[in-house]
Amino acid sequence: MKVTWDQNVCIHAGECVKGLPEVFKVVDGQFVIDPSKASDAAVLGVVAKCPSGALKADANAA
Ligand code: SF4
Repeated sequence: MKVTWDQNVCIHAGECVKGLPEVFKVVDGQFVIDPSKASDAAVLGVVAKCPSGALKADANAA
């Protein structure tokens, strides 16, 4: 599972960090995504809730 984030599209609604704080977090001011910290289904669920479309998941990528 690979998740990409487009900072130019993100509206900072916070759905990702609220939904899965272990996967989506801010470290030293940088937005970090670690899909290995949750199941693929859980990650896909949060990506689907992103209101802006900034998050894109590729289930076939490592
Ligand atoms: S859920 Fe989407 S729009 Fe909201 S902060 Fe995360 S990436 Fe940005």
